[in-house]
Amino acid sequence: MSKRHTFRGGIHPPEGKELSNHRPIEVLPAPKVVAIPLRQHIGDQCTPLVKRGDEVFLGQKIAECDALISAPIHASVSGTVKGIETYPHPVSGTVDCIVIENDGEDRICPDLPEPADIAHLSRQEIIHRIREAGIVGLGGAAFPTHVKLTPPADKPIDTLILNGAECEPYLTGDHRLMVEHPDLVVYGAQALAKALDVTKVYIGVEVNKPDAIEALTKAASGTNIQVVGLGVKYPQGAEQQLIKSLLNREVPPGCLPRDVGVVVNNVGTAAAAANSLKTGLPLYQRIVTVSGEGITQPSNFLVRLGTLFEELIAAAGGPKGTPRKIIMGGPMTGFTQYSTQVPVVKETTGLLVFAEDQVKATEPGPCIKCGRCVSVCPQFLLPVTIAKFAHAGMLEEAAEYGILNCMECGSCSYVCPAHRFLVQDIKIGKQELIAKRRQQAS
Ligand code: SF4
Ligand code: SF4
Repeated sequence: MSKRHTFRGGIHPPEGKELSNHRPIEVLPAPKVVAIPLRQHIGDQCTPLVKRGDEVFLGQKIAECDALISAPIHASVSGTVKGIETYPHPVSGTVDCIVIENDGEDRICPDLPEPADIAHLSRQEIIHRIREAGIVGLGGAAFPTHVKLTPPADKPIDTLILNGAECEPYLTGDHRLMVEHPDLVVYGAQALAKALDVTKVYIGVEVNKPDAIEALTKAASGTNIQVVGLGVKYPQGAEQQLIKSLLNREVPPGCLPRDVGVVVNNVGTAAAAANSLKTGLPLYQRIVTVSGEGITQPSNFLVRLGTLFEELIAAAGGPKGTPRKIIMGGPMTGFTQYSTQVPVVKETTGLLVFAEDQVKATEPGPCIKCGRCVSVCPQFLLPVTIAKFAHAGMLEEAAEYGILNCMECGSCSYVCPAHRFLVQDIKIGKQELIAKRRQQAS
């Protein structure tokens, strides 16, 4: 393993991946009812195109938004619209959902585009198809993919990186995808590379997934795609760290990958793009890892969007004991859930269930100035100082120390022996600072 394929800082939390990394992707039967949220991506929320009583097809566009940073939403089953109802959103508050009663027939929308070979599509046609298919970042960020594929003219892109690191503990959906469908990932990489007009393409995979590296290397044979093993360290899959590890390029504070000529997409996003190009079907399902020591049978499921979390938990054999904590996403950056009546959205990478004895309740103590939070911060920040300013409401001082460059990876909180709420204070401080600046600008 070359030394350059890693980055400075980071942590080594217990992986927990052995619970599910051997579990093949299982297609979960579509539920009787789906609740499809109108907010499933970064950017503006969609507006429904259907109403109560309408008949819809599988793959039919049912919600849309004209804003640049948005992506349409499609029916994940065929059936009848029961109405627009409010459900808990897995990330924030509540959300209006289009509720569809499944007729069990999976009648495919007749208006879908014909399957197409990327060799016969122009760059613009690929980008248009990806937008119309509602593809967003499936690694958890849910940023609309077509926007990443259309950088401003003054930001020339020379490299595409596919993120196959899957560095968050417990999550194994990307791992199973790379092992079971490497051809789809490679085809997706070729489609995205053509859309960006780049020839330098890397797929970065942590070396704790040797079977994925082997499968992808075989699938990419004869192409210009390089599959590269990465050091096993959290947050290896963060964009800045991936770019540093693979290209030795630094993304300056406040900048984006495109500022250093790079676009990063998740392997799941590439596979979703490939699937929609090859079949004409939009993004209506995704792989979700259901795991944690508090679930009976950790699994990887292919799930229709709008399936409720309670159905995933039941499909994985139900909870082991009384669940104490349920998290959507990974344990480092995921979101604690207070209900299981929450629908799967495009950013649902996983659902983790932990029982009483696996959740430590600890009170924060005084900082002992050990410096561990500083040494692990992959963004070279002073988490202890920023958190102190944020907690005291001294937002401009926190800004001077780079609060906006924090990517909320949680490494500082993880290592703090005093259990201080570092990332929590920083997150709240960031939100308040952004809101304050917006207000000042309006
Ligand atoms: S300050 Fe932010 S970027 Fe640095 S370790 Fe903490 S959460 Fe991660
Ligand atoms: S890791 Fe915790 S105790 Fe150590 S310096 Fe940072 S905040 Fe203080």
